[in-house]
Amino acid sequence: MIVDLSNLLKAEGSKIRFDSVMKVDELEFNGDRYSFPEPVNVSGNVFNAGNVLELKAAVSGCIHVKCYRCMREIQRDFSFAMDETLTNDDASEAEEAIRFEGHRIEIDDIVINHILLNTSMKYLCSEDCKGLCSACGADLNEGVCGCKNEDVDPRLEVLKKLLEE
Ligand SMILES: [Zn+2]
Ligand SMILES: [Zn+2]
Repeated sequence: MIVDLSNLLKAEGSKIRFDSVMKVDELEFNGDRYSFPEPVNVSGNVFNAGNVLELKAAVSGCIHVKCYRCMREIQRDFSFAMDETLTNDDASEAEEAIRFEGHRIEIDDIVINHILLNTSMKYLCSEDCKGLCSACGADLNEGVCGCKNEDVDPRLEVLKKLLEE
């Protein structure tokens, strides 16, 4: 989404609002994949604070991700607020500010960074997800698989193998 800041830049103390939906491609982070089946809502405003511009937005949507224990596909809603400082002044001393050129700014990458910050975590399909059997890979939420090592701690398993050798 490109936000046109021409009018805003002319008047200190002014504010422009934007309200948009954004298609977000699948994101990969630390080996996990996050996909967004529906467009993400982004609405907020940019305020001309004189030396810098202040971008504030509310972001919401839903995420498709795999349960980290059983790998089942799950969907979770998310919503968060983001807050950034922007400047097109190369001489600006606002170190945290995101630089842009001219009178327009493309905010997709800024929003995507915030989506990653707020959604890249481990998800569970339910608090008591039993996960997959480490021996046969069966989904233990659907019943016991019959393997004998169900309750064996993987570290003990290594020790057992060492003792057998
Ligand atoms: Zn699960
Ligand atoms: Zn099994």
